Amino acid sequence: HKYVYDFSEGNKELKDLLGGKGANLAEMTNLGLPVPPGFTITTEACQAYLATGREPDGLAGQIEAHLEALEREMGKRLGDPQDPLLVSVRSGAKFSMPGMMETVLNVGLNDQSVVGLSAQAGGNDRFAWDSYRRLIQMFGKTVCEVPGEEFEHALDEAKHAKGTHNDLDLDAGDLRGLVDAYKKIFLKHTGREFPQQPREQLDLAIRAVFESWNAERAVLYRRQERIPADLGTAVNVVTMVFGNLGPDSGTGVAFTRDPASGAQGIYGDYLANAQGEDVVAGIRNTVPLQELEQLDKASYDELLGIMARLEGHYKDLCDIEFTIERGKLWMLQTRVGKRTAAAAFVIAGQLVDEGLIDLDEALHRVNGAQLAQLMFPRFQLDHEFQPVAKGIGASPGAASGTVVFTSARAVELAAEGKSVILVRRETNPDDLNGMIAAKGILTSRGGKTSHAAVVARGMGKTCVSGADEIEVNVPAKRFTVAGQTVTEGDVVSIDGTTGKVYLGEVPVMPSEVVQYFEGSLDPEHIDNALVRAVHRIMTHADGKRRLAVRTNADTGLDAARARRFGAEGIGLCRTEHMFLGDRRELVERLILARAPGEREAALAALLPLQRADFEEIFREMDGLPVTVRLIDPPLHEFLPPLEQLAVNVAVAQERGEDVAKEEALLAAVRRMHEENPMLGLRGVRLGLVIPGLFAMQVRAIAEAAVSCARGGGVAKPEIMVPLVGAVQELETVRAEAEKIIAEVVGDSGVEVLIGTMIEVPRAALTAGQIAEAAEFFSFGTNDLTQMGWGFSRDDVEGAFFWRYLELGIFGISPFESIDRDGVGRLVRIAAEEGRAARPGLKLGVCGEHGGDPDSVHFFHEVGLDYVSCSPFRVPVARLEAGRAVV
Ligand code: ADP
Ligand code: MG
Ligand code: MG
Repeated sequence: HKYVYDFSEGNKELKDLLGGKGANLAEMTNLGLPVPPGFTITTEACQAYLATGREPDGLAGQIEAHLEALEREMGKRLGDPQDPLLVSVRSGAKFSMPGMMETVLNVGLNDQSVVGLSAQAGGNDRFAWDSYRRLIQMFGKTVCEVPGEEFEHALDEAKHAKGTHNDLDLDAGDLRGLVDAYKKIFLKHTGREFPQQPREQLDLAIRAVFESWNAERAVLYRRQERIPADLGTAVNVVTMVFGNLGPDSGTGVAFTRDPASGAQGIYGDYLANAQGEDVVAGIRNTVPLQELEQLDKASYDELLGIMARLEGHYKDLCDIEFTIERGKLWMLQTRVGKRTAAAAFVIAGQLVDEGLIDLDEALHRVNGAQLAQLMFPRFQLDHEFQPVAKGIGASPGAASGTVVFTSARAVELAAEGKSVILVRRETNPDDLNGMIAAKGILTSRGGKTSHAAVVARGMGKTCVSGADEIEVNVPAKRFTVAGQTVTEGDVVSIDGTTGKVYLGEVPVMPSEVVQYFEGSLDPEHIDNALVRAVHRIMTHADGKRRLAVRTNADTGLDAARARRFGAEGIGLCRTEHMFLGDRRELVERLILARAPGEREAALAALLPLQRADFEEIFREMDGLPVTVRLIDPPLHEFLPPLEQLAVNVAVAQERGEDVAKEEALLAAVRRMHEENPMLGLRGVRLGLVIPGLFAMQVRAIAEAAVSCARGGGVAKPEIMVPLVGAVQELETVRAEAEKIIAEVVGDSGVEVLIGTMIEVPRAALTAGQIAEAAEFFSFGTNDLTQMGWGFSRDDVEGAFFWRYLELGIFGISPFESIDRDGVGRLVRIAAEEGRAARPGLKLGVCGEHGGDPDSVHFFHEVGLDYVSCSPFRVPVARLEAGRAVV
């Protein structure tokens, strides 16, 4: 089995086997770029090691063979006392992962070869001893778990003794002394001398890389980022080149474009006379890459040429790491660089302009999550605001508010109209009311799948979790961070995208992307690279997609906004809110009606109100389909809660007031009480039990449509019956509705469709029968998930989903993203059997999943006609529907 690949044998497609770093080093080698020779030990070798606890058979021999080849090529032997070959040992998984073993440089140095290295470098003792002390430090820390501070402390002492802050002031003698000090530290912590055998150093370092795959932080990170646990890491063994050979040497990092804004230009940092980690470690001040032009024009020009070449080759923004050894440039790493959401769009647009990619590819390069991020308001940060802590961006948004530490206080202050940020170590189900009341949630513990994070995302609330610099003291109502104390009543600002926490109120800036969608920024006429790029990519997505995108909207206002956002109709107009407010009394009358006459009177009073609601919505959605769902929730939801009513009655009786009406109400509430309302008298069941209720709604819809048509508009109502589980239910409702529609519509030309929601598992499984009575299906995936899993949506997310996520029972809440295997299967069955029974059956989805990127792809695959989502998610759904095609 082949476990070791020379750089010349790999390429960038082999990331699974060679890891990202190894695959790209191979790619650069084969492009003819100056990469120090080396080889990569595969992820398969790592997997085998982790499975058995020892190196797989054959690995040692293959390493030996590749090392010998390397030695031949370089004309040196590893750790040779006269002229040592030195190597770095670098981890490199498919995904870069904090917490895994970093790099060990200068492997092969020992008490003898350090002398040879110096001689080869023209008697540069300082360089040789500096390299040696780095080896002991990195090897000790990363391979043998010697606490890094001890080495740093010894280094500080050496500098202190010399009266300097700059490590460049340490001379060869100082560094030699430091090597001795480091060796003592090593011995003290490991109980053995620093290994002098070069090959042993190499083998131990390789093994440490393998084992770091299972380091606690790496495991945690993988879980949070949903990276599979069994990929393993590759190990790269790379010939050392030296940036610490003097002022004509150095090391740096660069991006081919600005990863924050996407702007073109030269972005990077350079540090002369330094090795590897110095640049990022910030021990000395780096200079902007542009200054390299003065220092070493030839290397600078070559570097720029290589960067342009890499961009042309990868057709994307690349980040790179390089070293200059005495005027000779070496490339040590490249990869397609991470970028912000804004930069992703801008760069994709630029690359199209430059002819490097086409619009289909540009559409690939961005995603709905990024677009969603760009639609949140942002903090307007100037120098005044520096973050005091950084946690995990658990639920995006920018929120400022008064700090509170308890749920009760959050509810209190919110009731006074204040914006509050609920601060806890971690949240639990008791915090639910506080979380609802708060504008944002900040916790000092827990990751992306903690209770706070899961619940906040479900609510669409800004949340920063796991900001562990913050010490929360709930009883004392304060937290401390960065030496400052924040007490209840102080204001903080949290950024749920970046995870950053600020003291004070950071001003908030509206999203330009939203302004563009709303039509207040014209992409053709403003100089805004982001808006232009979004416009261009969205236009392309719209041209490509097969799925239509509708919106869930209950009011004319929402309908109008969603239409500006590109909605092509309404997929779900709930009618519940039309029974609230001052109409509640009419509903009470309806519920309390004893005689048919009373009920009819109440319904007659509701009819014109409903009709006016629908007229407004049809007007806003002129020419587009509007799916109206007949009333769904149990009617007792429209009545006052039992306890409150009982108290009121008792108090009134005490005062001797006339309580006949309240008593009747109370009796009704008692009568209608349900242990499990979600599975009780609701949806179509209401329509079958309460005479005239659905009829009134159907009439209101039909009359509103006719009135729109008379006014010159085009209304396309689709009446949707909720919670159907059997075709007989639908047939009964349908028969009554058809009569009313025929009577109202007459020869107005209005066409009214009748269909049903598929949200009860039985409906999905008998879709072939139900389709006989339905002109359309709309998948209510919230309820379908709820009933498919037997999860009460209102209860389970906060109660135990965090644990399920932690255990990996699911990777994401099935309410956030559709469960393809289970609930998705119900959708598939219903779509297939429904269409088989009625070709041309219209299929859509109206659950929250309609705006979730992954779910949109699924609905595309299943062949639905449209998705429907909240107005704000409409652009995301349009984009993802386009991405599902290309
Ligand atoms: P990370 O994944 O943390 O970036 P790397 O393996 O890229 O770790 O190593 C960090 C740095 O060490 C590199 O940027 C480079 O400067 C330095 N380095 C690694 N290998 C070599 C080498 N063979 N010669 C010189 N410097 C090296
Ligand atoms: Mg690197
Ligand atoms: Mg439902």
